[in-house]
Amino acid sequence: MDKTTLAYWQGNATALAIEGRAFIDGEYRPAESGRTFDSVSPIDGTVLAQVADCGEADVNAAVRAARRAFEAGVWSGLNPRQRKAKLLNWAALMREHLDELALLETLDAGKPIGDTTSVDVPGAAYCVEWFAEAIDKVGGEVVPADHHLVGLVTREPLGVVAAVVPWNFPILMASWKFGPALAAGNSVVLKPSEKSPLSAIRVAQLALEAGIPAGVFNVVPGGGEAGKLLALHRDVDCLAFTGSTNVGKLIMQYAGQSNLKRVWLELGGKSPNIVLPDCPDLDRAAKTAAGAIFYNMGEMCTAGSRLLVHRDIKDVFLDKLVDAARGYIPGNPLDPKTSMGAIVDQLQLDRVLGYIEAGRAEAKLLHGGSRVQQESGGFYIEPTVFDVSQHDAKIAREEIFGPVLSVITFDSIDEAVKIANDSDYGLAAAVWTANLTTAHEVARRLRAGTVWVNCYDEGGDMNFPFGGYRQSGNGRDKSLHALEKYTELKSTLVRLR
Ligand code: NAD
Repeated sequence: MDKTTLAYWQGNATALAIEGRAFIDGEYRPAESGRTFDSVSPIDGTVLAQVADCGEADVNAAVRAARRAFEAGVWSGLNPRQRKAKLLNWAALMREHLDELALLETLDAGKPIGDTTSVDVPGAAYCVEWFAEAIDKVGGEVVPADHHLVGLVTREPLGVVAAVVPWNFPILMASWKFGPALAAGNSVVLKPSEKSPLSAIRVAQLALEAGIPAGVFNVVPGGGEAGKLLALHRDVDCLAFTGSTNVGKLIMQYAGQSNLKRVWLELGGKSPNIVLPDCPDLDRAAKTAAGAIFYNMGEMCTAGSRLLVHRDIKDVFLDKLVDAARGYIPGNPLDPKTSMGAIVDQLQLDRVLGYIEAGRAEAKLLHGGSRVQQESGGFYIEPTVFDVSQHDAKIAREEIFGPVLSVITFDSIDEAVKIANDSDYGLAAAVWTANLTTAHEVARRLRAGTVWVNCYDEGGDMNFPFGGYRQSGNGRDKSLHALEKYTELKSTLVRLR
């Protein structure tokens, strides 16, 4: 069959058997209460599966299983080389099941199949491989100390790590947590978003097949309540969260109300993309600026949702930008030719349309602005561009998490940097210039965890730490620094005589 056709993926979707139960202690189980929720496809609004709606009994069972596995040492006690081998098996199984996992991701979250097959699923497998490959190469330290002492600094797994993740890159964001956490020897309880739980449920079975022992990796689908139960749980040692800033704030409070578990937060963004008049390639910059906000329907924490353009090049640049935006045509995500899929659900669709309404009142609409393909039963919005005269307008300040771009005009570098930094967030930023000194100086002044120069969203490479300044969060996913989140440092002092 020809994988480049819509018919191929539609055929596979019809034949797909979808698992909706929780995965606890090495087996699939319904929620103890018997409760389920509908997994609805944003492609056409059809119900894909009934998914276990995990509550207190299920969360407790998953944490108990994770703790038991941790204490038994069936994973934490292995030589890192042995953990590596099993994690590599798991990643290989993800690659073997790439089409199936990508299809689940596309059906569940509305992401284009071309992206889930090339970015999401291979990216998750790569993350697991990367941490597997790293874990038997990072050792501790022998510190300079008094002659009568041997001083060791070692890293130990925390114990039970709970991961609560969002729906925009379901399996990829989850892998950024479970990759390093498992490599470091922890047990994991993963709570996927209620909007996109299917790929996480499926990879759990693959983990067991790969030789990761029962109890080490558990998946409890459910909504905010299940996340809250994990964040309040006294036997969870760490809560690794990716999601909205509002929920991140609650998670910190839950940790304070319970056992002061370690809390790591990857939160929202309103990232500035600054185009200076000496931009080396306006065509590439315009195409990239469109991709920065319209890729994945704008449902990206790093979305370049504020485009700052110098007044001297504004008109010519906006022509190119709108041309590039026209290339994003919302369509059936199962069609490999589709570059823009569906918004994840009705709630998010309404939220984005609400922002577009606000935008019409406070800014000038340059492109898009409408819901389309309503007859499909799915949730599609055109790529939308606003020219914003006040940089603190609602649409230019709040995270929309949809395909809505605010263009802001500036007259000097100082003004651009000031506007860029005038945000509650600090996840990412970009600057376009041909001047090396300007590039470095502006990059230094931008208060963001990632700064791109003459590009945007480069950095699929695991070597780059990823995370935010300010209310975009704390800690870093990816890179060896991620291991710091999932380990405690221990000083051991041995007196020789
Ligand atoms: P969200 O905060 O609504 O939900 C995230 C997760 O938290 C979900 O699993 C949800 O069920 C759970 N949750 C909801 N209420 C909870 C509560 N009271 N206690 C515990 N858990 C709770 O976010 P979302 O809508 O799923 O995702 C979009 C957000 O995620 C955006 O703000 C986006 O910027 C952010 N995000 C950040 C990154 C990053 O790396 N910085 C990456 C992707 C997405």
